[in-house]
Amino acid sequence: MTNGARRPLVVGNWKLHHGLSASEALARGVVQHAEDLGDVEIAIAPVFTALASVARILSGSKVALSAQDVHFEDKGAFTGEVSAPLLVDVGCRFCIVGHSERRQYFGETDATVKKKVAALLRAGVTPIVCVGETLAQRDAGQAVATVVGQLDAIFDAGDGATLSRVVIAYEPVWAIGTGRVARPEDAQEIHGAIRARCRERIDAGAAEALSILYGGSVKPDNAGDLMAEPDIDGALVGGASLEAAGFAAIARAARVP
Ligand code: PEP
Repeated sequence: MTNGARRPLVVGNWKLHHGLSASEALARGVVQHAEDLGDVEIAIAPVFTALASVARILSGSKVALSAQDVHFEDKGAFTGEVSAPLLVDVGCRFCIVGHSERRQYFGETDATVKKKVAALLRAGVTPIVCVGETLAQRDAGQAVATVVGQLDAIFDAGDGATLSRVVIAYEPVWAIGTGRVARPEDAQEIHGAIRARCRERIDAGAAEALSILYGGSVKPDNAGDLMAEPDIDGALVGGASLEAAGFAAIARAARVP
């Protein structure tokens, strides 16, 4: 459970699902169900082509808009890309970067993640930086080292004050879309290691302020136990965010009692 200084955050990653009308309907459902959330902040990340129409639906609501990826250059001859200033233009408060699917299928590296984080911070968009180990890395006892290595790659993307505006999402690759969720105590171990590394590399204040989400098969029935852990400040939700009532139930589990 997040401490008083950090506001819980629950983000729905819709991945490559839903065209315009289905995205609009789901966004309306999320807005409708986004009640009794207390201090919990929620955001949804539709496909690029639905961002503008979903932004209109979210306007004036408690639900924020997120993108799923960004390019690190602001403009120029980069056919097919979308920049951080364009995300601001369409109303995004957040942007996911370094998701394991992008690392696995689209050649995302720690170096490009760092550039994307810097571009988003320059534009005033909060990066949600995904880190996480594969099953082979976990079985080899390399889970903490892998995650800390991915984290180290972004430390020189900004100064301490700026970096405390970054959100980290710990997403063990073996838990994403598999129905196999991390045990709360295992997730807590990694979240604690992430915060400790931020304390070492930046400072105690930035580490305390850092929001660290857990992602990987979060569902309404396991969210409460995960978010009861002291360093788990919310969730990045894939599959279960495609159903508005269940997504809102996950967000309610993040409330500070
Ligand atoms: C994700 O896509 O970031 C994710 C965590 O997916 P799922 O909740 O479906 O495991």
